[in-house]
Amino acid sequence: MTDCIFCRIIRGELPATRVYEDADVLAFMDIFPLRRGHVLVIPREHQVQLHQLSPEVRGRLIDTGARIAQALYASSLQPAAAHFAINDGPAAQQSVPHVHLHVLPRYAGDGGRFLLRLLRKPFDLALGPAAAGGLEADAAAIRAALAKIDGH
Ligand code: 5GP
Ligand code: ZN
Repeated sequence: MTDCIFCRIIRGELPATRVYEDADVLAFMDIFPLRRGHVLVIPREHQVQLHQLSPEVRGRLIDTGARIAQALYASSLQPAAAHFAINDGPAAQQSVPHVHLHVLPRYAGDGGRFLLRLLRKPFDLALGPAAAGGLEADAAAIRAALAKIDGH
């Protein structure tokens, strides 16, 4: 058992605004979203880098990320595009040592605000978790779109 913060979120010891979960992966809202609808997808298993996961779990991680993006596009948030990003180790700006796939929506013409958020991020992280208000409403919109995609 590790005391990594994402493992603690998986175990329910720390709160998170959950979007999707199954036996292999968990998806939840990033507490410091770079853009609205910023989701993290993580494997339940604690590993630091992508190659340490089994091909099956890796596949589940990427597939879940793609489905989250599909749900974002279909949701009321309606981003124009998205980044899929994995910072694969501390020297690549990985700040939480548990594999995580960023699903980061982009909105038409949001370049300036995006850069501002990116530059502000170290200060946000140092200041501590933002008020999670707003995240729940966006998570609910993503969950509803996912349910439609899955035919529920
Ligand atoms: P990294 O820089 O390691 O690729 O990304 C880590 C991400 O995790 C950051 O975008 C950061 O905002 C997010 N994060 C850090 N701590 C927490 C937390 O306690 N809860 C949630 N939901 N996200 C977190
Ligand atoms: Zn972990």
